[in-house]
Amino acid sequence: MARKNVLITGCSSGIGMALAVKMAKDEQERFKVYATMRNLAKKDPLEEAAGHSLGKTLEIKQLDVCDEQSIKTCVNSIPDRRIDVLVSNAGMGLIGPIECQTIDEMKTVMDTNFFGLVRLLKEILPDMKKRKSGHIVIISSVMGIQGILFNDVYAASKFAVEGFCESLAIQALKFKLQLSLIEPGPVVTEFERKVFEDGMKMDLSAADEETADMFTNIYLKNYKQIFQSLGQSAEEVAEHTVKIILAENPPFRHQTNTLYTPMTTLKYADPNGDLPIDIFYKMVFHHDKIFSASLNFIKLLRWRSRKSFDLGKSSSQ
Ligand code: NAD
Repeated sequence: MARKNVLITGCSSGIGMALAVKMAKDEQERFKVYATMRNLAKKDPLEEAAGHSLGKTLEIKQLDVCDEQSIKTCVNSIPDRRIDVLVSNAGMGLIGPIECQTIDEMKTVMDTNFFGLVRLLKEILPDMKKRKSGHIVIISSVMGIQGILFNDVYAASKFAVEGFCESLAIQALKFKLQLSLIEPGPVVTEFERKVFEDGMKMDLSAADEETADMFTNIYLKNYKQIFQSLGQSAEEVAEHTVKIILAENPPFRHQTNTLYTPMTTLKYADPNGDLPIDIFYKMVFHHDKIFSASLNFIKLLRWRSRKSFDLGKSSSQ
């Protein structure tokens, strides 16, 4: 099998970095990874993680998804501009009451998460169409199919991505191109840390008392616990993504977190859309103690299963 050129955006941390390293270290050397990042001054952790693959199966390049020229320069620097697999991963979060966010902040989220993908495809899609080959992989989110309290603009940006891709997928099929949306639940990365810190620092004076209290004492209070109980690692999401890239018939959508699947299933169970809203409402406002206890229970179960897995491993060595 010929080595595939893979371009990944947002590789200075998190899922992008984990995926770039995993693919570059593939034992069968099936990939040449172009690991891109907006700011090359942040390349040290990736270089360290890449180890011997650096300069062989992994090259680091500058690419800002909000800058068309930077995308063009990066793609032009790749031999024959050939990108077999594009992983659109770069993204950012935003939480809080919309009264306390500026339109500029919201536009930055849309510009990065949605128009970032559009800019990449405007540059890369025509080459893929000409060659009639290519796989476009997008790191979306479960919030691309279901909104969550105080994630209004982030969810909107991921919904935009999903709607755009559903439309494009039909055309892509005609050109024998594949398109896959990877939908992680909570993932413990820089993203989670930064979003939480920004939320804690947020000036809530523009919100009424009830909303500000809801954000601080319900949302932020449960935030860490949700990530601790349901969160995956960037490496786990990278593993799922590689499986999808290697699949003969990759699915259009792939959720990485089975613990989260019951929540997203609600969406499809009720065409009126009331069921998930009602359940989330009750979970947050009426059954918060049960919700919190369930999260603790899941955390305990996961901790126990990891423990037994580790014991199993060491006893077989
Ligand atoms: P992260 O913050 O570690 O990674 C995001 C990367 O995108 C960073 O390296 C950042 O520098 C980069 N980036 C931001 N703006 C950019 C720009 N204009 N150009 C190029 N790069 C830019 O967080 P992560 O969790 O690894 O996020 C990766 C993707 O996963 C994002 O699209 C995010 O929406 C999605 N996601 C994350 C979670 C989560 O809980 N962490 C859950 C679902 C989906």
